[in-house]
Amino acid sequence: MEFDWSPEDQAYRAELRAFIAATLPQSWAEISQEGPGGAAQVAYSEEFCAELARQGWLTQHWPEAYGGKDASSWRHAVVSEEMWGNAEPRGPRYMTVNWVGPSIMHFGTEEQKALHLPRIARGEEVWCQGFSEPEAGSDLAALRTLAIRDGDEYVINGSKIWTSYVNHAHYCFLIVRTDPESKGRRGISALLLPMDLPGIELREIPGLLGKKYFHEVFFRDVRAPVSCRLGPEHEGWEVVTYTLAYERVGAAHYERAERVLDTLAEAARKRGLLEDPSILERLGQARAAVEASRLLTHRVIDLREKGSRPTPDTNIARVAGTWAVRAVGDLVHELHGAAALAYDTEADGYYRLSQWAGVASGTTEVQLNLIASHQLRLPRE
Ligand SMILES: Cc1cc2nc3c(=O)[nH]c(=O)nc-3n(C[C@H](O)[C@H](O)[C@H](O)COP(=O)(O)OP(=O)(O)OC[C@H]3O[C@@H](n4cnc5c(N)ncnc54)[C@H](O)[C@@H]3O)c2cc1C
Repeated sequence: MEFDWSPEDQAYRAELRAFIAATLPQSWAEISQEGPGGAAQVAYSEEFCAELARQGWLTQHWPEAYGGKDASSWRHAVVSEEMWGNAEPRGPRYMTVNWVGPSIMHFGTEEQKALHLPRIARGEEVWCQGFSEPEAGSDLAALRTLAIRDGDEYVINGSKIWTSYVNHAHYCFLIVRTDPESKGRRGISALLLPMDLPGIELREIPGLLGKKYFHEVFFRDVRAPVSCRLGPEHEGWEVVTYTLAYERVGAAHYERAERVLDTLAEAARKRGLLEDPSILERLGQARAAVEASRLLTHRVIDLREKGSRPTPDTNIARVAGTWAVRAVGDLVHELHGAAALAYDTEADGYYRLSQWAGVASGTTEVQLNLIASHQLRLPRE
């Protein structure tokens, strides 16, 4: 097995690094400290993505038919690693190019493709993901938000929760129940919902990830045209499965974890802490966890590149990613001591970020369940 990057991908990584270094403003460290939903970060992501698009790099992994370059999954991984290593300057637009666009390509009508894909490819649209509800998180199929058909429109009532970036979003990738008599995975549809329709209200949920990140969204008699439905009516579970397969290994968290670990090791060295074998051991364990996460993610990329359908390797890579981020987060906390708890320090930022690993995009427990049943073939109780 070849473990190294091809010379072309290495050259591209160097070019991308130089671009990032020349493009990110001096104030980026401060802006990114604001947390993922911060207004300055989201606003800057538009500028940055427009620049990436001009280079032809924002959607290079898309097919040529949609303005991409059919770049390999490995090239896409280089982009993901360099972006996450720099606190993800694409902001919410990483979701848009990673899974919203590909889902529209796969399930969308020609009108939907013509409306959204060019704007996404220029970094103009911001989307949010309206999946979770107060009673439907891990068990997403328990969702209750209704969209009842009334002629050429759906009338939407219900609520979503933990909706990242909704306060900045132009559209919501919304999962609703279109058959009110249905239960579970049947009777669900996906909607590409414009966020400026009357009847949509947001309520901020102050949270660990910084101001204005988490929101609850309420839909009260929101009327949306039937033409905004993505895929067949009542059969949106297929859309959900497709988008989640793209989302689960979308972010190279290990890259940021590694860079944080490097900074941490250097700070520990300056303070003479590396004399302590227990600290050396902890640093080594965290680095091993990060490396395991990287290699297991690369395994998934390799399978994807070979055209394999999603396998439990994706769940394994996600769990390894969570363990790595948590290991580094805990070490940040321990080595910085009380300083890691002061608001708006780098240590505080990473520690808080590490705490959501293992919850977003499917909790660790649920990933372990999936590994148990699909990989280890353990019996269900
Ligand atoms: C940073 C962040 C960003 C998010 N962004 C979005 C977003 O943009 N859009 C969106 O729709 N959602 C978003 N979410 C919500 C996220 O998808 C849910 O938090 C996640 O699916 C878990 O659902 P829950 O919070 O309702 O927890 P629950 O499903 O209620 O789980 C609670 C606990 O029970 C455990 N548990 C549940 N079921 C099982 C089981 N069968 N076996 C063993 N243990 C189980 C879980 O592992 C967890 O520890 C975000 C969450 C975070 C943390």
